[in-house]
Amino acid sequence: MNRRYFLSSSIALGAFAAVARLPVAAALCQIPIGSKEAQSNDLRSKGNGAQSSPHPDPLPGGEGAASKSKGIKKVIKTDAEWKQLLTPEQYNVMRQKGTEAPYSSPLNDIHDAGNFECAACELPLFSSETKFNSGTGWPSFWAPIKRENVREEVDRSLGMTRSEVLCARCDAHAGHVFDDGPKPTGLRYCMNGVALRFVKKA
Ligand SMILES: [Zn+2]
Repeated sequence: MNRRYFLSSSIALGAFAAVARLPVAAALCQIPIGSKEAQSNDLRSKGNGAQSSPHPDPLPGGEGAASKSKGIKKVIKTDAEWKQLLTPEQYNVMRQKGTEAPYSSPLNDIHDAGNFECAACELPLFSSETKFNSGTGWPSFWAPIKRENVREEVDRSLGMTRSEVLCARCDAHAGHVFDDGPKPTGLRYCMNGVALRFVKKA
């Protein structure tokens, strides 16, 4: 059974599957087979011990990069409070680290200028200026809007090592970052659209 089968199965499940445990391949945020980069999504686990930040310098918009995560006042709520505030899909992804079904997010098709902010606390996480079509079915970016606005953690779930991306203000799970992205950073921030809210530039 190949990955493409898994992916198309997941697409068929659509939004219904967004809150359910998805097949492993769909949860990996993989680039489809046929892409030259299809095999490289686990590169992060090799070589750097997955502990160090993958960010090359400099990143755009990172004027505060030296003071990483400084100046961001944390938003802390109980699990019950988050459950009340978020939709079931958002809660599953953002607080329980679930993965939405690929191609299920309307944000995939947004190409207007604007910012993608955390759906829970409204901290801007990504800009349309770094959005690109990764072919994965998840909204993808090659850099965060500011380095300090996202936090990374090593994720060893599903039998592999990945870098999880979280909102630096409310610690919501947003997605993962891989090092098979396009220039200039070579990074691919593979995000769950349900964790983001698009705010069009006025
Ligand atoms: Zn947040």
